[in-house]
Amino acid sequence: MKAVVCRHAELEIVERPQPTPGSGQVRLQVLRCGICGSDLHARHGLDDWADLAEQAGYDRFGRSHEPVVFGHEFCGEVAEYGRECRRDVPTGAPVVALPLIRGAKGVDAVGLSVHAPGAYAEQLVVEESLMMPVPNGLDPDVAAMTEPMAVAWHAVRRGEVRPKHVAIVIGCGPVGLGVILMLKARGVRAVVASDFSPGRRALAKACGADVVVDPAEASPFSAMHGRGHLVDIPSALKLAIGTREKLGRLPFGWWHEWRLGERLGAGPKHPVIFECVGVPGVIESIIEGAPLFSRVVVVGVCVGPDRFRPAMAINKEIDLRFVVGYTPLEFRDTLHMLAEGEVDPRPLITGEVGLEGVDKAFSALADPERHAKILIDPHSTAAEPSLPTR
Ligand SMILES: [Zn+2]
Repeated sequence: MKAVVCRHAELEIVERPQPTPGSGQVRLQVLRCGICGSDLHARHGLDDWADLAEQAGYDRFGRSHEPVVFGHEFCGEVAEYGRECRRDVPTGAPVVALPLIRGAKGVDAVGLSVHAPGAYAEQLVVEESLMMPVPNGLDPDVAAMTEPMAVAWHAVRRGEVRPKHVAIVIGCGPVGLGVILMLKARGVRAVVASDFSPGRRALAKACGADVVVDPAEASPFSAMHGRGHLVDIPSALKLAIGTREKLGRLPFGWWHEWRLGERLGAGPKHPVIFECVGVPGVIESIIEGAPLFSRVVVVGVCVGPDRFRPAMAINKEIDLRFVVGYTPLEFRDTLHMLAEGEVDPRPLITGEVGLEGVDKAFSALADPERHAKILIDPHSTAAEPSLPTR
């Protein structure tokens, strides 16, 4: 079979033997595989990531000198079962799977380890227990978006966003666009999106953002002023004293009223902000510009060191949360949201290529005006990313 291998930051098509599924594993024929922003970073920065992963206890992450096959956002057809499989899905049926595989030496990250080749290939092996049939005859283009959309769904859930919240999405690459789609699917009525690129802002609109901001011209944090957010320290202090005085006019002790209010979820209003950029300085700019008590969900992956002023975050009591991945349940729910048509990620898909075109697709993705998500179709001969007419 053909596969695209990354080694010393070079992408190259090679012939490899067809992979053999182990116990509890399944070989898939790849239908589509998305090129993830993390693949673009991994091409040049695999060793930095491997060092981080090693410090966190995973020492089998890919290294730049190893022939790593990327690809963790895929859909495929069941081709062959290994031993001790339940075989619930018929051979030839379309499936998606979480990109994790269990071997004798533990669990490996599919598409980011030399021990678990990914879906930039005609075939790959997945774990049967993490594989799910694609329902409703869902288009493989859309099914392949399950993985990145599950990342967005997890971020939205970790942000505990309610329909009444104002949500502000900083950065409208594939991650930010996915978050916008999931926020709208969750019924959030006020979604602000911010990106320097006009092309990305147009995609944010297409994904359902209610207000789109060019941060060079306006602050995304003031786009929804008048929503009762506290923007400075004096207004928070005034609110505290004012609330105490108001409750003091009631016949019961003010502290009983205050406690009851807390139990009912009363408190200062705040937006939920999604950091979907992942470059140094963005967290600081959010802490500086955000209203008091903002909840900040960091989805963008900044691998190097970053700086921010904790005292600024403390003065505003910023609630900073970091998120990664998704649970098998979130992955399954995302697949079904896509299959039921509750979320349509097609605005993100800006091109498709064959394996021959992967190198060109990586270059094309560097330009935010032209591309967001490019899918690989291993059966295609397209050497340049373009939108197929299906
Ligand atoms: Zn990814």
